Amino acid sequence: MAKEYEGRAVGIDLGTTYSCVAVWLDQHQRVEIIHNDQGNRITPSFVAFNNEQRLIGDAAKNQSATNPENTIFDAKRLIGRKFSDPVVQRDILLWPFKVISGVNDKPMITVKYKGQEKHFCAEEISSMVLTKMREVAEAYLGSPVKNAVVTVPAYFNDSQRKATIDAGTIAGLNVIRIINEPTAAAIAYGLDKRNDCDGSRNIFVFDLGGGTFDVSILTIKGDVFEVKATAGNTHLGGEDFDNRMVNYFVEELKKKNKVDISQNPKSLRRLRTACERAKRILSFAFVTTVEVDALFTGIDFCSSITRAKFEELNMDFFNECMNIVDTCLRDSKIYKNDIDDVVLVGGSSRIPKVQEQLLEYFKGKELFMGINPDEAVAYGAAVQAAILSEGCKNVPNLVLRDVTPLSLGISVSIEHIMSVVIPRNTSIPVKKTSRYSTLYDNQCLVNFLVYEGERPRAADNNLLGSFGLRCLPGPRGQPLEVCFSIDENGILTVTAREISTGNMNMITITNDKERLSMFDIEKMIKEAEKYHVEDMQFLRRAKVMCELDSCVYNMKKALKKKDVNLILSPQEIAKINNAITVAMDLLDKNKKEKEIDVLEGYLEELERMSKHLISKANNFIFLG
Ligand code: ADP
Ligand code: MG
Repeated sequence: MAKEYEGRAVGIDLGTTYSCVAVWLDQHQRVEIIHNDQGNRITPSFVAFNNEQRLIGDAAKNQSATNPENTIFDAKRLIGRKFSDPVVQRDILLWPFKVISGVNDKPMITVKYKGQEKHFCAEEISSMVLTKMREVAEAYLGSPVKNAVVTVPAYFNDSQRKATIDAGTIAGLNVIRIINEPTAAAIAYGLDKRNDCDGSRNIFVFDLGGGTFDVSILTIKGDVFEVKATAGNTHLGGEDFDNRMVNYFVEELKKKNKVDISQNPKSLRRLRTACERAKRILSFAFVTTVEVDALFTGIDFCSSITRAKFEELNMDFFNECMNIVDTCLRDSKIYKNDIDDVVLVGGSSRIPKVQEQLLEYFKGKELFMGINPDEAVAYGAAVQAAILSEGCKNVPNLVLRDVTPLSLGISVSIEHIMSVVIPRNTSIPVKKTSRYSTLYDNQCLVNFLVYEGERPRAADNNLLGSFGLRCLPGPRGQPLEVCFSIDENGILTVTAREISTGNMNMITITNDKERLSMFDIEKMIKEAEKYHVEDMQFLRRAKVMCELDSCVYNMKKALKKKDVNLILSPQEIAKINNAITVAMDLLDKNKKEKEIDVLEGYLEELERMSKHLISKANNFIFLG
């Protein structure tokens, strides 16, 4: 493979709570996780401001309790989002620092720096963390670092990915590729196992970090890593577990000490730090104490919490994780017995209850923890960086493939049913063709509406674009061919062709603003489940309406045949005409909708009549 980028490139896991940088050492054919100036392999994604200076990483996190209003974390939760986004609004309530709405509804973080009020956007804060990671790498390598592969959660939308690239640019880095975190983790894992995997292996990646939860199913075949399915929740992770414990102790303080610290950012921050520590301890101990001296107006706080209590406080979160695991497996159409390895990624995957539930779900299959959960993502990013940059000859050549997050299709039939051409979670690149036909006699223009989504009624899905195809006039049912093709970059092209004439037209839909955000995708999948019952009713009605329409059409056609009065008596013709009128009345959109049972009953009757008519006609031809 031609190396596209000059000089050394590093891999950076820009995490919500912790970041990690790694580099491929070509001469040793391995990845090195780089220590920061404090000797730590991971660096808190924290930036702090005070009267004298700006602090990044450990230094920022260490002083957070004394300077909560000016210590920024979680910038990744804001990146590429609007201030009015409900997710942002919910987060703001929990943060000790201030976020206001800037130009174009952009969230701006407000801090006091060297005595002045300063406003920063999320990209700027992330760029400061990236700058720190670049400096960590430069100190280790002894040379400037220009290029980096940066990872993002699998469900980050286009604008969040672009904002991450911008953060890199602000940090003086050329972001040569953005890759999904679970995919990066799988690269790390696959590299280890590559030699002893002859056939294909199905890998389940479970990444529960500080702020996000991502699961992916990948199939590894030789050097090819194919993503079969992804699912996740952008707001589920260790910080949510910390918050539950904080709230628990805030309530305890209200009861026992008759004080409410919920409006005091400094006390909350200090309690949260103590809770995070307690949570980590509960991953190996069954009970621990939480102590904060002078937490609030002279109160020395000291309490204890058991692992069981911690689990009880967070059980709904843990169950939500397992629901997402289940959805992802169902989408991938891979049986859980066919999963070869379950890979744990992210610091929160160390929580015993989470591991216990996963073990139970995968029926005792051993959970793979061979790669350090905090480092796996940066490890994979470093491998990808080496593949793309020059000077790395010994790096294995890997091919990454992605999947479509939602089903893609067109609206068909008079009832505008969503006809899926490419189902959700199909790996790309992909090309699929479906056959359709004209809906009316002498139809000279067919309009193709391209949608993405899971609802059976096309209009309930997201319209991506539309185009028309000119056809030669003829009876309805002229065959048409529609081809959906998605390239490596997720760009969709839809081509339609009239088979008899070869007339063609097409539309290209880029993976850009027309596409849905992660939030919308999650919402639509949830809605699809919620509305499942309604949807089934819609489909039942749509199906009977289409069949009625087609039955009426065939009967009218039969009645127009020139010898019809030789095979049918005038009474029979009148009866059929009458039945057609009733059917057309039922089909009339302007009139009150009829009960589905009535429609189905009538369809049965009409079909019987139609069959009788056609068999009579056939016999007549046969005899004649
Ligand atoms: P992110 O990728 O979202 O930045 P990480 O994968 O670095 O997150 O995980 C950080 C989270 O993991 C934090 O919320 C931290 O409290 C949690 N964590 C780390 N170690 C443990 C542990 N031993 N037990 C429970 N949670 C842990
Ligand atoms: Mg992570």
